[in-house]
Amino acid sequence: MKLNFNIQPFNTWATVTKEPFLIAGPCSAETEEQLVATAHLLKATGRVSVLRAGIWKPRTRPGEFEGIGSIGLEWLKRAKAETGLPTAVEVATAKHVEEALAAGVDILWIGARSTANPFTVQEIADALKGHDVPVIVKNPVNPDLSLWIGALERINNAGITKLAAIHRGFSSHEKSAFRNEPMWDLAINLKTHAPELPIICDPSHICGNRELIPYIAQKALDLDMQGLIIESHIDPSVAWTDAKQQLTPAALDAIMDKLEVRKPGAGTEEVKDALAVLRDNIDKIDDLLIQKVGERMKIVEKIGNYKKDNGITILQVNRWEEILNKRIPYASAFNLSKEFTEKFLELLHSESIRKQTEIMNKDGVSGSQQEHLTHA
Ligand code: PEP
Ligand code: MN
Repeated sequence: MKLNFNIQPFNTWATVTKEPFLIAGPCSAETEEQLVATAHLLKATGRVSVLRAGIWKPRTRPGEFEGIGSIGLEWLKRAKAETGLPTAVEVATAKHVEEALAAGVDILWIGARSTANPFTVQEIADALKGHDVPVIVKNPVNPDLSLWIGALERINNAGITKLAAIHRGFSSHEKSAFRNEPMWDLAINLKTHAPELPIICDPSHICGNRELIPYIAQKALDLDMQGLIIESHIDPSVAWTDAKQQLTPAALDAIMDKLEVRKPGAGTEEVKDALAVLRDNIDKIDDLLIQKVGERMKIVEKIGNYKKDNGITILQVNRWEEILNKRIPYASAFNLSKEFTEKFLELLHSESIRKQTEIMNKDGVSGSQQEHLTHA
């Protein structure tokens, strides 16, 4: 599926101070001093392209700090006037959009909770009509690519052509080191469907802690994402929201210093040639893999027909265990992990079961007759 967003190239609206494009600032604007002082320190790093600050905060429980509200727009204006940094805020209602635009905010972002709700996204989209402002759309809280795409489409249909996505990870019941599972494949999928749509990574909300941010930030750059949005607070230890994941401007600067920006097309002719040869090898191996999987499925169909003719159940647990027990040590000899091998075999196995179920459920004709017919 190719998505057709009507958008302007990223570099026509995003001014990059220094590669990689970096949006930084506190999770929440708390006081005028906190915001302005943080902005000055971020500006001084020479790395920040845009200043972020949440002023309307979506909080899980009532009674938590719900953002400073509209007064924060005045503080953002001052921070921008003093540092020259363009500003970005989260908008979740039509009123937020109107107030933010009236206050001259440069970029609006849609939060993960809002993206998950098409009514909210449509309300925001309607309020954006007729305005030429950049909008960046975070992925929804839940791992649902269609919701993310749907939100981007609603905003694009409202006439917003300065559009980007933010990958901030997904909620999962599985306990892990991350606050929100990166599930990179969803972001990669979005990129495959809409290669021209810029994706910015939000390591702060993926990690939920400072320690893992460099790892996720580097990974995002290696996946050729267009930039990063990272939370930074003048004193994270006293931050009113997301204290564990915020970095001082100095710590952020140190992390950015160590990141490697690898350009997709960069490198000498020699490197490019070597890469082309390696890619060609990969293509050949992938073709062979597909051919072999096709052959495997043909055998699976034969087995399905035997089972049908002889009234044998499709799933035989012992056989499946045997396959796993034999293959895992074999795969480990090729440096393939147990987790990968299990997942890979499970995928093959579930497709085999699906094929055999299809054969079993074909009425009237017996398995072998059916095979005879299809090969006739
Ligand atoms: C934020 O950026 O501070 C925020 C609330 O993020 P998310 O919508 O990704 O949870
Ligand atoms: Mn936050």
